[in-house]
Amino acid sequence: MTLRKRKLAIIGNGMAACRLLDELLERDGLTHYEVAIFAEEKGGAYNRILLSKVLGGADPDVIVTKPPSWYAEQGVRLLDGVAVRRLDTGAKLVETSDGENHRYDVAVIATGSHPRVPPLQGMTDDQGDLRPGVFIYRTMEDCLKMRAHARAGDNAVVLGGGLLGLEAAKVLSDCGLHVTVVHAATTLMNSQLDELGGEMLERQIESHGIFVRTGRTIEAVLGAECVGGVRLDDDKTLAADMLVLACGVSPRVEVARLSGLPINKGIIVNDTLATEAPGVYALGECAEHAGRTYGIVTPAWEQAAILADVLTGTNPQARYHGSKTYTRLKVAGVDVASMGRIDPELERDEVIQVVETRRGSYRKLVVRGRELVGAMLVGNTTAAASLIQILDRGDPLPEDPLEMLCPGGSFGADARADRVVCNCNKVSEARLRDAIAAGAATVEALSLTTTAGTGCGSCRTELAQLIAGHSAQPARLTAVG
Ligand SMILES: Cc1cc2nc3c(=O)[nH]c(=O)nc-3n(C[C@H](O)[C@H](O)[C@H](O)COP(=O)(O)OP(=O)(O)OC[C@H]3O[C@@H](n4cnc5c(N)ncnc54)[C@H](O)[C@@H]3O)c2cc1C
Repeated sequence: MTLRKRKLAIIGNGMAACRLLDELLERDGLTHYEVAIFAEEKGGAYNRILLSKVLGGADPDVIVTKPPSWYAEQGVRLLDGVAVRRLDTGAKLVETSDGENHRYDVAVIATGSHPRVPPLQGMTDDQGDLRPGVFIYRTMEDCLKMRAHARAGDNAVVLGGGLLGLEAAKVLSDCGLHVTVVHAATTLMNSQLDELGGEMLERQIESHGIFVRTGRTIEAVLGAECVGGVRLDDDKTLAADMLVLACGVSPRVEVARLSGLPINKGIIVNDTLATEAPGVYALGECAEHAGRTYGIVTPAWEQAAILADVLTGTNPQARYHGSKTYTRLKVAGVDVASMGRIDPELERDEVIQVVETRRGSYRKLVVRGRELVGAMLVGNTTAAASLIQILDRGDPLPEDPLEMLCPGGSFGADARADRVVCNCNKVSEARLRDAIAAGAATVEALSLTTTAGTGCGSCRTELAQLIAGHSAQPARLTAVG
């Protein structure tokens, strides 16, 4: 007797949902499930992390990871341009905003986050929509609208000096705009860097022609119909043809709320990513696990692997125990990485700092005995991959932790081989070297064979260096006679 395939409804078609699809396919999940994916955004899936490329002028197709044809080929039903309103968890129905109902046996909510929009005076029109010239930065559509508006020689103000704000500022500056970043805290990226790190970063950002106003915020958006300027909280005004809001994100929980699911900051899930409602799961930025929500992709991808294990029965005992997080700024010419705690927590925690004022580099470790508690690197991130791996695996630091910051130390040499270069996809240097030796001679070929560099892309320079290093090796001479 053949069993009826169960109906799996996935709400959202972003980076968490797409990874879940890949993980399900890897486990032959489509032999158990008939999958329908509900996507508010039209036109397949793309790598949201690489949106800055599109903002900078690249063809949107460059970042598309799954075109609509991919779903058809895999036998997955894609309902794109269809937003879900709520789940009827009793009748097991997905209710879409076009009034249709779709049956499900298992539903996964992966609705991501909303950009936070501060209530600035004069920011919206009479209908409550953002005025022409005011932008958020979350979707392909946002980027295309921004790019259509931005002209070289115009003035842009970016509100928010965190990862996204600085990324947008650099792209707009590279497009020829005069850019000012306004940031409420006294130093940039204050969630990931201490004061000295933030100051060093500010100098680097300014050296790229971007102006920075820290300790300030915007009180009002000026101009008649379109944006003409902004008024800061010190009453000074800045001319602005466009204003980009990069003020952080909050989990998108409307579907869960209307479905009666428990919500705190995000949709509350347990270690199997299950919500309280039978057959309903959540993952990615909309989910809250053990009191934590995440705003980066690695946790979403780790959750996707666990959920696929559970749903396919490949490993029903798989459990998610939280993710260790690290961040890297993907702004060309500005190297920043931060992980774990940025300041000591216990009295016995030790801080090791290397400051090179002329080179503009600042490196800091927070150490507890031989355990790495946190690290921050500004201006020189060569040690980032090794440090992330140590933090991730809880490996002991060398006797002298300073060796971690000084390439060429004996610890560095020993640890290199199984060092993870691509943290998004956990690809080690050893695996990359094997692939290069087997003929992967370009970054694209290496990415294709190993998946390295297909997440946030911040390791692509290192992939190129490994390839260059391999081709620069002298051919081995064989002694004859
Ligand atoms: C410009 C930018 C740069 C970034 N850079 C980095 C980086 O360098 N490193 C990093 O780790 N992270 C980065 N991030 C964050 C990363 O993109 C997110 O962590 C990741 O996308 C989260 O995946 P998700 O699936 O939870 O959410 P999303 O990718 O946002 O996907 C959610 C999807 O659900 C859809 N949806 C929502 N509600 C509904 C509904 N009711 N019905 C149907 N569909 C719905 C949304 O339209 C969206 O397509 C960046 C984000 C942005 C915007």
